[in-house]
Parts: sequence; C-alpha cells; structure tokens
Amino acid sequence: MKSICVIGAGHVGLVSGACLAELGNKVICADNDARKINVLKEGKMPFYEPGLEEMVYRNVKGGRLSFTVSIEEGVKNSRIIFIAVGTPQKPSGEADLTFVEAVSREIAKSMDGRKIVVEKSTVPVKTGGWIKKLIKLNNNSNSGFDIASNPEFLREGAAIHDFMNPDRIVIGVESKRAAKILTELYKPLNQPIIVTNIETAELIKHASNSFLALKISYINAIANICEKVGADVTKVAEGMGYDKRIGQEFLNAGIGYGGSCFPKDVTAFIKIAEEAGYDFELLKAVQRVNEFQREQIIKKAKSLLWNLRGKTIGILGLAFKPDTDDIREAPSIDIIRQLQREGVKIRAYDPQAMDNARPVLEDVVFCHDPYQVAEGSDALIVVTEWDEFKNLDLLRIKELLKQPVIIDGRNIFDPAGMKKLGFNYKGIGR
Ligand code: NAD
Repeated sequence: MKSICVIGAGHVGLVSGACLAELGNKVICADNDARKINVLKEGKMPFYEPGLEEMVYRNVKGGRLSFTVSIEEGVKNSRIIFIAVGTPQKPSGEADLTFVEAVSREIAKSMDGRKIVVEKSTVPVKTGGWIKKLIKLNNNSNSGFDIASNPEFLREGAAIHDFMNPDRIVIGVESKRAAKILTELYKPLNQPIIVTNIETAELIKHASNSFLALKISYINAIANICEKVGADVTKVAEGMGYDKRIGQEFLNAGIGYGGSCFPKDVTAFIKIAEEAGYDFELLKAVQRVNEFQREQIIKKAKSLLWNLRGKTIGILGLAFKPDTDDIREAPSIDIIRQLQREGVKIRAYDPQAMDNARPVLEDVVFCHDPYQVAEGSDALIVVTEWDEFKNLDLLRIKELLKQPVIIDGRNIFDPAGMKKLGFNYKGIGR
C-alpha cells in the first residue's frame, strides 16, 4: 500500500485516484474547486463516467479514498503526488501551464519529507525540468524529492477500463528510486511498463495523441475521395485494418475528432515542434482535414435541403463522443453555431450532455428524446454515435420529420437500408 495524493479531481485525476485506491493504496484527491469536493464528499459525481460512482463509493467506504480542498493536507499525508490538473490551450496554441505551476509551488511549500512528484497531466516536453526548478526554489523544508512523468492514456467513457487495462504504462524518471516505486505501484495491473527519461515520457503522450488524430484525419481524407469516386469508406477501412501494421482501430470516418484532448494536444505538439525548430507540416494538414469535415456537414445539409434559412434541423448527440457528458471542443458546438449563422433553428438531444450544453449553446430547443427532436425538423444530423441512436424506430422518425432527411455524421446507419425506408440519406464517405 502506498500513500498517494492526486491533485486535480477531474476526468483524469478522479478516475486515477479511484483506481489507485481500488488497487489497495491510500489516496487523497485534492482539488481547489470547493464545489466539486463538496459534491464528492456527498457521494455524488461531478461528471458522468460509467462505473465511477460505484468505485468511488466502495473505496471511500473502505477508507482508502478521501477528498480535500487542501493541497497541503494531501501532500503531507502522501509519498507519491500526482499532478492531474488541466493544461488547456492558450490562444497562441501552446499549452497553458499556469495550473501546473500553481500546484507545483503549493507542493513545494507543503513538503515535509521525501516525495515523488509525478506529472500525469499532458504537458509539453521539458515541463518536468520546470517543475523541478520551481520545487527546489520554493521547498522550505529542504526535503529531497524526485520528479517523474507518467502520462495518462485513458479515454473518457471507458476511463476505468482503460486505467485498469492500459496497453502500456509509461514512466519517465531521473532516479532508480522513483522508477522502482512507480513500477511497484503499477505492477498489479500486469501490463508492459516502459521506463524512460522524463523528456521521452512527456513526448510519448503528444506523439501518441497526435498519431491517433492523424489516423482519424487520414481516414476522413480517404472518405472524401470515396464520395467522389463511388467507393465505400467503411469497406476501405475494413480492408486496410486487417493489415496488422495498420489495425482496425481509429479508422471510422466521420465529422472528425473533438474533445478536451486531441484538438489541444495536436495544436500544442505543433507549437512544441516549432519551438524545437521543426515545422510539423504533417500535423497542420491533420488539423485542416478535421476542420474540413465539420464544414462538409453544412455543405451536405445544403445539398439536401437547398436553402437553410428558416429551416429546422435536429441534432442527435452533443457530447464529443458516446458515454460521456463532456462537450469540450465537441464538433456539435461548431456545427450548431455554423447552422445558426445560416439562419437554421436547432432542436437537440443527448443522453448525458444536455446539462453541460445548455450554458454553452444559445437558442437551442433541448428535447427529451430523439423523437421529440425529429418532430417538425426538416432534417436530422447524427453527431455522436450513442448506442441509443443505433436502435431508433426509424419509421416513427420518418413520420415525425417534415422531410425524410438524415445526415449521418458517424455512419451508424446502413445507406441501402435507409434508402429502402425512403430516407434521403447521406453518410460520410459512402
Ligand atoms: P479536468 O478539467 O476534468 O480536471 C482538472 C481538475 O484540476 C479540475 O477539477 C480543476 O478544478 C483542478 N485544478 C485546477 N487548478 C487546480 C489547483 N491549482 N489546485 C487544485 N486543483 C486544480 O481535466 P482532465 O480532463 O482531467 O485533464 C487533466 C489533464 O489530463 C490534462 O492535461 C489533459 O490533457 C490530460 N488528459 C486528459 C484525458 C481526458 O480524457 N480527459 C486523458 C488523458 C490525459
């Protein structure tokens, strides 16, 4: 059993904290958002993540997991300190590291013995060096400490599964001591552990996320060619994916990537490369393809509805992906705003994300199910591939729509079947 403090009780911090407690460690999650900590203390979850509430409840009850607003309390009671605060995008595109800096300073001031300070947030290469300098400067107790990087690869919506069954665990260290302690911590997961220096570990995270974004943009580029030549991108992807060197994953053509990680991490990586003196043109193209995909949806709406002004369009799905209520950088927001600029009235539904979407989107009629969205709409656009949408009563949907028009931004329906049902249907790349 190790004593651990996770600073930042967000999507990564809370899940990591709960899972590390589940593995038998004693974990304190510290967050300066008092509202969030109070919600957690009441046994509720600050966001939706399948399985998290039960896991948190079990570990709080077992005395292995607790919450605090005080970083000092967390640090004083722990040997290993994970930094899991946000690293959002600055207007310039770089990662904003002010939260990481603030937390590092507080850690330094609270040191009362040897600690390992671990970056779990996604940070630009060389951030470990900055944290080290800052802690040294502000460390009143003169306690020894190690810095480590342990990037997180979990996906929202499958976060617990991913934390407990990672493809690999990356540990970047400067000392054998830190490597030993962190390797022991993750040993129960029984997965490959890669121990590197800190810079390499930091870079693995940006290189991985950018590669996944690249894979999405690649298949979307292929989808655009498919539409021009009468090929089916889903079959092209299947045919490619059987090649083990390529793999089936992340070859779903659609509206493009969104969420709190890929857009900001790709942009940050371009900036990191720029600072290092390399023009990462390949990633700039990845971004351009992604933007193009969103614009294509508006073009498809125009091609099916002719004039958009005065029309009503129903949006199915607001979350950036299924099984989450997260709408950060969700394609839905961009698409809805673009449609509104064209004079379209919007009706929308999402199984989990509507509470988060309400304060962000204006003039949207939020509905209680997909059928209410369809009622009186001129077209439906599938933006998020929730399972609930895959099993819709499509004949009922057709009756409720003013015109039987569906734009399937995630290719969840079969084009031939939709045609048979009498829909004017457009998917992506087929
Ligand atoms: P989040 O916004 O959900 O959570 C961040 C938390 O940090 C918030 O609760 C916030 O209140 C807290 N915080 C900010 N400043 C603080 C301070 N000074 N003291 C204490 N707490 C503070 O963010 P997230 O999605 O969990 O992402 C965290 C990091 O992990 C980011 O770097 C992100 O890129 C990375 N990451 C995210 C995911 C993901 O799927 N969300 C996956 C892998 C990596």
